[in-house]
Amino acid sequence: MRKQLEKNLADVRSRIEAACARADRDPSGVKLVAVTKSAPFEAIRHLVDLGVTDLGENRVQELAFRGERMKSELQQKTANAPGAKLVCPRWHMIGHLQRNKVRAVLPWAELIHSVDSLRLAEEIDEQSRRLSQVTPVLLEVNASGEGSKFGVAVAAATHLIEQMESLENLRVCGLMSMAPFTDDETVIRRTFERVQELFEEVITERICGPAFRELSLGMSNDFEIAIEYGATIVRVGSGLFQGIDCSNESSAEEADASTIKSAS
Ligand SMILES: *Cc1c(COP(=O)(O)O)cnc(C)c1O
Repeated sequence: MRKQLEKNLADVRSRIEAACARADRDPSGVKLVAVTKSAPFEAIRHLVDLGVTDLGENRVQELAFRGERMKSELQQKTANAPGAKLVCPRWHMIGHLQRNKVRAVLPWAELIHSVDSLRLAEEIDEQSRRLSQVTPVLLEVNASGEGSKFGVAVAAATHLIEQMESLENLRVCGLMSMAPFTDDETVIRRTFERVQELFEEVITERICGPAFRELSLGMSNDFEIAIEYGATIVRVGSGLFQGIDCSNESSAEEADASTIKSAS
């Protein structure tokens, strides 16, 4: 499994580098978030060993469960190796977030990519205030107009960003978006282009402060295109876990309830 992951990771990284070279961009300006969804925990652990620093989950329960498990394993490892520094991966919340799950995700999420309403932003602000923290978030934009997708319409985005900017315990760090699931590259390009235009408009019109600089764009089948349109974060799942058996992974829900309890 390790060999396969090593190969997949090297492949994804070299494709990121090649896309950066084509777009005349510095590869250090594109962060890889490994989307772990259905991947077995052991595979995630290998990826972290191989130097992956950022992981993405789309469900709160899974994120908190895996975050806790990863942390306690790494703590144990560090305890057995005097002098070693504890380096935990950073977790990104990339899936649709319900307001009643905000409290559970805040301790774990380095960045929430999927804020798509003022009500959700206000809840994150409120819960962040209780924790005396400022939570970095991205606004999710639906630039393809697909009804089935989450995210705010491009036309509504700048006004929402202005409102979010006034929330003190929230920091708007950029935009996230998804292209429609299609093989038609022109459709993907049109979507990414719209998001990039919005991103640049927010910056040039100074709707946000200097923290607004992240563009989370691109998944396994379109991250190279996304890099052309300025992606600073790419979210890659299936491309990294190719050839790994992801069918038997028990989710947090199925896991031993006592483990969850002792972890919280
Ligand atoms: C699953 C998912 C990804 C990764 O998709 P792959 O096609 O597996 O790379 C990226 N972003 C979001 C929001 C996802 O839900």
